Amino acid sequence: MFKNLLEQIYKEVNTLNLEGQQASYIPELANVQPNKFALHITTIDKKHYGIGDVNEKFSLQSIAKVFAFTLAYQLKGSAIFQHVGVEPSGNPFNSLIQLEQEQGFPRNPLINAGALAICDVLISELNNPEDEILSFVRKIARNKTITYNPAVYQSEKKTGYRNRALIHLMKSFGRIQNETENVLDLYFKLCSIEMTASELSKTFLLYANSGIIPDSPEQILTESQTKRLNAIMQTCGFYDEAGEFTFRVGLPGKSGVGGGIAALHPGKYAIAVWSPLLNAKGNSVKGMKALELLTTKLGWSIF
Ligand code: GLU
Repeated sequence: MFKNLLEQIYKEVNTLNLEGQQASYIPELANVQPNKFALHITTIDKKHYGIGDVNEKFSLQSIAKVFAFTLAYQLKGSAIFQHVGVEPSGNPFNSLIQLEQEQGFPRNPLINAGALAICDVLISELNNPEDEILSFVRKIARNKTITYNPAVYQSEKKTGYRNRALIHLMKSFGRIQNETENVLDLYFKLCSIEMTASELSKTFLLYANSGIIPDSPEQILTESQTKRLNAIMQTCGFYDEAGEFTFRVGLPGKSGVGGGIAALHPGKYAIAVWSPLLNAKGNSVKGMKALELLTTKLGWSIF
């Protein structure tokens, strides 16, 4: 069923001539070929279907914020919500205005300010955050080869002016415990993690599987925590387009400026799509269209 459907969707999206812009504020991301396109689904009953550039690595960028939050939530339980809220921001992912108005308390863990606050918590909690985050991602991905991309990391480190502004603003409100450069460094590393669409859909299956790593007895998040994280992805996972994504697609997920989107249907499947051309809000144009067609043709969404 999924195989034919993905083939149909892939073809249909390619005929639409959808227009978008590649992210260039992180210079390294502008070097990716704009016509890349991949769709990969992994189901709870262990089936895999992919089409397009499914075995090419791409930069996860903000999608990796989900993994950092998962680890911090596992370590701190509901105390993590002393550091980040659970409200959609309705603002661009790197906006400073709301953060100033709300005394440096980030609206949610999936905007930049929130992910920086989570990196700060991870630095306080872990002995070697850089290695431990990577080991955690490798564990949930069931793949020891997942790694940071040094060129993307360096590229963002050189140009991350707005993230520097965000963290300094939070620090001025007493919200950041560690050195700002250390937090930024970890955050840029996190965003530089790369995966293929196939690897990403397999990793996201955790969130469709009540927080248990598929094929293992290991429960990473409780069922209730998983429900809550999925709710945060639903309401906050698509920049200030979370409403539009929910309206058109109806699945929890997270996008990144590398052009990836990972989404899931609890109890059924996880899907990763990748196409670097973004709309004005920063979401992959083809990716959103493909997911809209998927849930519409399947007649399944969480609503
Ligand atoms: N590393 C990117 C930034 O902080 C992540 C943005 C994103 O994917 O939304 O600007």
